[in-house]
Amino acid sequence: MLSYRHGFHAGNHADIFKHLTLMLITQSLCKKEKPFCYFDTHAGAALYSLDDEWALQTGEADKGIKKMLELSAGDKIQTTAGNELILPYISYCKKLYDEAVQYPGSPAIVSHFARRGDQLVLMELHNTEIERLRANAEILKKENAADIHVHHRNGFEGLISMTPPKPPLPARGFVLIDPSYETDSDYNDVAETVLAVNKKWSTGIICIWYPLIQNRSAEIEKLKASVIYRDIKTLNAELCVSKPKERGLYGSGMLIINPPWQLSDKLRQILPQLVQILGEQGEGSFSVEATEDEPSSN
Ligand code: SAM
Repeated sequence: MLSYRHGFHAGNHADIFKHLTLMLITQSLCKKEKPFCYFDTHAGAALYSLDDEWALQTGEADKGIKKMLELSAGDKIQTTAGNELILPYISYCKKLYDEAVQYPGSPAIVSHFARRGDQLVLMELHNTEIERLRANAEILKKENAADIHVHHRNGFEGLISMTPPKPPLPARGFVLIDPSYETDSDYNDVAETVLAVNKKWSTGIICIWYPLIQNRSAEIEKLKASVIYRDIKTLNAELCVSKPKERGLYGSGMLIINPPWQLSDKLRQILPQLVQILGEQGEGSFSVEATEDEPSSN
């Protein structure tokens, strides 16, 4: 029984960090003419209202994307190198907010920055969320050029069975694994899925989102340790909006296998800006650790 609904959290600090990273990867893949595919194992609904009951109940977007949009409207986000990188994301979020008080989830972000010929495979297991995803995918298809395929299925199994991507899917591409971690098995399933997929699709870029929550630190360290080892090129970045606190999410991480070239440099430019914008009482911090950074084939 799945109870997590992303609509309560859409547009919070963790979404901003995750979606900016997805945008940077999509932009990197677009530098080559060849199309790419994108697998979203836990796609959610793709578009979220920021003025419905769920969003208003938690108020998470107020301290996240709404704050970011307000600062950018008042020109309080200065034009620095890091902010130049953030601007395309802000401008897409602003467009959606102004038109429909909505926030883009991971499928919408990738679809917005992708091109004709690129292909998105979106998986979602929740019986209600999948209906929202199907309806929103039709909207995204009308507004953007990439192809979108929606699957009502378990994303872990789906990813393993669909990789390496076979024609008509392009051979190059990337994955987002973004579970809610509402069941303890999610940590293990992520590690096992990533290792299985990397073994048969060694060039695929795999992004794992994970929460920073104090009472889950052992599971998170175990997950990281099982994926970060010498044979696999990895990049691990974290954004904390406060010091670790007893309850709740104080930050999040993105662990990326086969990161595109220069992604670590870009994150090092962006993350100080995010700390400044999203950090609470001056307590924000970030880290970026990469095994190496050299031109890659992806
Ligand atoms: N990736 C989305 C984004 O960034 O906009 C947010 C996804 S949300 C954190 C996790 C989603 O995974 C929820 O919509 C939940 O219903 C769904 N889910 C949970 N277990 C799943 C599974 N095994 N396979 C596919 N989807 C699952």
